[in-house]
Amino acid sequence: MHNKTIAQLAAGLRAGEYSSQELTRAILDRIARLDGRLNSFITVSDELALEQARLADQRLAAGEAGPLTGIPVAQKDIFCSDGVLTTCGSRMLENFVAPYDATVVERFNAAGAVLAGKTNMDEFAMGSSNETSYYDPVRNPWNTDTVPGGSSGGSAAAVAARLVPGSTGTDTGGSIRQPAALCGITGLKPTYGRVSRYGMIAFASSLDQAGPLARSAEDAAILLGAMAGFDERDSTSIEHPVPDYTATLANDLKGLKVGLPREYFSVGLDSEVGKAVEAAIDEYKRIGVEMVDISLPNTHLAVPAYYVVAPAECSSNLSRFDGVRFGHRCDNPKDLEDLYKRSRGEGFGPEVKRRIMIGTYALSAGYYDAYYLKAQKVRRLISDDFRQAFEQVDVIMGPTSPSVAFKLGERTDDPITMYLSDIYTIAVNLAGLPGMSIPAGFANQLPVGLQIIGNYFDEARLLNVAHQFQQVTDYHQQIPVGFE
Ligand code: GLN
Repeated sequence: MHNKTIAQLAAGLRAGEYSSQELTRAILDRIARLDGRLNSFITVSDELALEQARLADQRLAAGEAGPLTGIPVAQKDIFCSDGVLTTCGSRMLENFVAPYDATVVERFNAAGAVLAGKTNMDEFAMGSSNETSYYDPVRNPWNTDTVPGGSSGGSAAAVAARLVPGSTGTDTGGSIRQPAALCGITGLKPTYGRVSRYGMIAFASSLDQAGPLARSAEDAAILLGAMAGFDERDSTSIEHPVPDYTATLANDLKGLKVGLPREYFSVGLDSEVGKAVEAAIDEYKRIGVEMVDISLPNTHLAVPAYYVVAPAECSSNLSRFDGVRFGHRCDNPKDLEDLYKRSRGEGFGPEVKRRIMIGTYALSAGYYDAYYLKAQKVRRLISDDFRQAFEQVDVIMGPTSPSVAFKLGERTDDPITMYLSDIYTIAVNLAGLPGMSIPAGFANQLPVGLQIIGNYFDEARLLNVAHQFQQVTDYHQQIPVGFE
């Protein structure tokens, strides 16, 4: 069962080949047996899962099932889930049992999905390798000496290893697409405002966006359909109709215009990754897509602008973790100041502290104009680059990540190199656009991701473009050795 896609599992449930309780037990057994090698889960919610599966079976029997009813999924541990530990990968929230569901969780529950557990992640979603997690790193199922990418590394590794058929992630600068690429799966970061951020622990509010990770574009379409939509509890959620993302998967791509930004194929790109991406582009040409050379001239400014904007917003968002209302509190504080200092000093790890310090500095009086305001202006230039590109082309393609999965520990002492893992993904967040990563081949036996970027609210088109590739290739069906 574990090798089936969500679409196949849903068909099996409806046909009565197995019940959701049988499926859920099989999934929980598999997690118990194999996750010791990966550490992709922080919490496995066995009891809740079996109870939800029982209710799903009733819905199935009553003929009231939707496409996700009875399907086990995993949620990144950044989403509040009522009654379930929600750590955000941090010691700060080591004992935080959320008192309510995030909208994303609520929507999965309403769809009848089964919560298998909460996945490991970089602390407060800050990282590109899952090594900043307080709960130890996640390992990549393709080679357990390498990282799965981050920050949604647990969600990506769990799907790649067939522990769950689908999961959720969040992407502030690449955290769905980059781990999807490094783990050889399909991940989609929607348009900013497409999916509610309510109950999703905030990192950088103007960039954060939740999306699905799955093994196929079809499954990502099913998951996104459940997640997307307006939510009055998130003031940046947009009232825009949610299409049936599965309805247009089969559309023909003949005549589609794809932009290839020259800045995405230059220095810094690993040559083997480049070759795999070029081969994927050739495959698209064979199915009738027209390639157009384009330029996104401000690409080189994306990482620097992001590392002002994201830390600035995080320094503000994370001020709520003060040891008073929730989260870690130090023992025997002398006075209020000591309580704040030690609670935060003990609760946050080094990367989070680095970001809070950079962000506080960038926002401080006298520096605001030089850093934050300047970064916002650069952000506008980056959005303008994309706007001009989409006057000429329908979607943009390039590599998701400049390299394949790297070794654990290889970049932990060098934050700048770590930050450059996201050179091709970050601009998309700064512009608020949707982007996707799909398996496009292998380099040195490790998966390579192809990134597909779309115009605002063009998720259906991205999924269609991805699905058509998956009809003529089988990279997305490859299974890491040891997880068959
Ligand atoms: N790697 C980037 C960072 O550390 C992006 C993380 C993310 O998208 N959450 O900020």
